Amino acid sequence: MENFKVSVVIPSYNEEQNIPVLAQSLSGILEKYPDYEIIFVNDGSSDKTLDNIKKTRESNDKIHYVSFSRNFGHQNALRAGLDAAKGDCIVSMDADMQHPPEIIPDLIDKWLEGWDIVYTIREDSKKLSFFKRKSASMFYGIINKLANLQIEKGAADFRLLDRKVVDALKLFRERSIFYRGIISWMGFKQLGIRYKPADRLYGESKYTLKKMFAFALNGITSFSVVPLHISTVLGIIISILSFAYGLYSIIIKIFTNKTISGWTSIMVGIFFLGGIQLIMLGIIGEYIGKLFIEIKGRPSYIVEEKSID
Ligand code: UDP
Ligand code: MG
Repeated sequence: MENFKVSVVIPSYNEEQNIPVLAQSLSGILEKYPDYEIIFVNDGSSDKTLDNIKKTRESNDKIHYVSFSRNFGHQNALRAGLDAAKGDCIVSMDADMQHPPEIIPDLIDKWLEGWDIVYTIREDSKKLSFFKRKSASMFYGIINKLANLQIEKGAADFRLLDRKVVDALKLFRERSIFYRGIISWMGFKQLGIRYKPADRLYGESKYTLKKMFAFALNGITSFSVVPLHISTVLGIIISILSFAYGLYSIIIKIFTNKTISGWTSIMVGIFFLGGIQLIMLGIIGEYIGKLFIEIKGRPSYIVEEKSID
């Protein structure tokens, strides 16, 4: 391909210090391509993120922004960026310099070779906290099993997508979209390349423990109904066990003269069953809650201002 446009989409939440650095680095790297655009999605930041994005536009008119009315979360910011991007290939990355911009030419080279999706795999690095690495690997272990996906352990939202993949993604109207799962599920010609993550340049991780937990739960419940089956299977197992125990009690009653004190078994039974029932209700509740939210069909994000259509 001779004449093509590269879009780079960057969800940004309270990244005021990282924006100028990233914008400058990207402008330098993307210069050699026929055409490009950089789209920052300001996800309701409370710091100077938006001001700083506007400032970078003074020296480079290929930089654009979409700014939300409040914080809608990383995945929705990503969606807004993909919706706005006009490129023939679209790269998404984080704003914090953990995704090294120098890798982008490699992604584009692979795309030019004919790959539709070029995703990146983060090499296990001591630069990430032990907790982050372990929680990520556990999460991908569980979701790959439950949802029958093959998401790589170090996958992040740092990847290149061909125009046709982005157009296909726009057909997904689900509100709580989980890109890592969907992209793995979509097919097309996919290639993974490895990279070493850098340190976050400024600021702190915006994924608090609460957000990570919500992200993991959403990922699993978006892609799998296996947790619902757990309820059925556990129910059957417990019924069989209870039946056997009932039979045992009757036999004891008939054949021996032992008075059954019984208190312990009753208490254990009540607590155990009560606990299981609450867990299962919770699981069912998660799915019903999700149905409730999806069925309302609210928009995934609300744009307050933007510099492109
Ligand atoms: N982010 C966002 N909205 C949020 C949380 C995060 O747009 O509610 C952005 C954030 O600015 C960054 C990217 O998503 O560009 C990844 O977040 P972060 O680097 O904090 O996560 P981590 O790398 O620690 O998993
Ligand atoms: Mg980060």
